[in-house]
Amino acid sequence: MAFNSTAYHQIKLALPDNVEVIAVSKTKPTSDILEAYAVGIRDFGENYVQELMEKQPELPSDIRWHFIGHLQSNKVKYIAPYVYLIHGVDKPSLLDEIQKQAVKNDRKISVLIQLHVAQEETKFGFSADEALSFFSDTIKDKYSHIIFRGVMAMASFVEDQQVLKDEFQSAKRVFDLLSPKMGSEWRSLSMGMSSDWQLAVQEGSTMLRIGSTLFGSRN
Ligand SMILES: *Cc1c(COP(=O)(O)O)cnc(C)c1O
Repeated sequence: MAFNSTAYHQIKLALPDNVEVIAVSKTKPTSDILEAYAVGIRDFGENYVQELMEKQPELPSDIRWHFIGHLQSNKVKYIAPYVYLIHGVDKPSLLDEIQKQAVKNDRKISVLIQLHVAQEETKFGFSADEALSFFSDTIKDKYSHIIFRGVMAMASFVEDQQVLKDEFQSAKRVFDLLSPKMGSEWRSLSMGMSSDWQLAVQEGSTMLRIGSTLFGSRN
């Protein structure tokens, strides 16, 4: 299946104005991305540096590329010249590298702090306590070339709505607690995917990362 514009418009209609949709195009060909581009989508999410490096030069330059996967420090340099928002900042050393590459490229790079709220061991991110102690009042001085835009979280792969709700609420709580320290650019709460976006919006998400509902399932 290529891009499903009906599904896209249905989601958009259901959303309040302050909630953005990032079209997650990982594993999908550039032709699918161009179909989505044709209906006006400019925000695309990719998970793999190598794949993004292949797609980016072939696609329109006004696309805003969101890096939503696990980012290794040694790969930051490849996406630093153009990435629009890095969603998965999961440890302080990654911030050090993003700062370094942002300086080199003479630009500021926007990031979201990834919080570990799910039960699964495999999900990356800061715990609530780690995030609350690490992100102090001085963090913005230390990282002059990083713009802290908010928080990203992934809920567990479970059906239980109460579990999902609790996880989204813990992400929202950390987002709110950090907000006074982080300033006016701290506005984005990236949570919600194809299976759980309605609940995520209910719990305060401002940014959905939707893949399979828009582009079909991945192999
Ligand atoms: C793949 C992916 C998505 C999109 O998932 P769907 O269930 O296909 O909507 C969202 N966020 C992250 C971090 C992903 O890796």
